[in-house]
Amino acid sequence: MTVTVAIVGRPNVGKSTLFNRLVGRKIALVDDTPGVTRDRREAEGHIADLTFRVLDTAGYEDVKDGSLEDRMRQQTELAIREADVILFMIDARAGVVPLDQRFAQVLRKAGKSVHLVGNKAESAAAEAGLVEGFKLGFGEPIPLSAEHGLGLSELYSIVSRAI
Ligand code: GDP
Ligand code: MG
Repeated sequence: MTVTVAIVGRPNVGKSTLFNRLVGRKIALVDDTPGVTRDRREAEGHIADLTFRVLDTAGYEDVKDGSLEDRMRQQTELAIREADVILFMIDARAGVVPLDQRFAQVLRKAGKSVHLVGNKAESAAAEAGLVEGFKLGFGEPIPLSAEHGLGLSELYSIVSRAI
């Protein structure tokens, strides 16, 4: 059975950038406008010799009913249900913001293995945000730079343990 990896978190943290990197093609639309993920968000991902199914999330503009937060929660809950491995992404440069806390609440209820990923960690400016990440309650944040391809060996370990 193929392992399913879901990338979840608030808009603009870099989920689609990681998705595209894992998939090796620009499938998900990356945009500076929060919440812009309009197209396909499921594909075959690879890290070295590992192959898995990867889900991008957001695209809450596709869900018509409910408040913004309800819609984001709905998207996330769907991905959580399908996932074997959940990568909960924050922007390490921004640190932990209230919306991250609300995602954390949803994820805590999932009863699945959640790995906190601190993206945009290519610069020293991310250090404080990584430390702050501990308070979300998922242990040590994994430093990652989706844009620069840093931190993938740690993701390799996580995914390979689930296979
Ligand atoms: P999403 O809304 O979570 O899917 O975020 P996107 O993947 O669309 O990225 C949002 C913005 O963050 C874009 O401008 C990306 O270029 C930028 N971004 C993504 N990953 C990184 C990273 O590792 N470092 C930096 N500095 N910027 C990044
Ligand atoms: Mg996106």
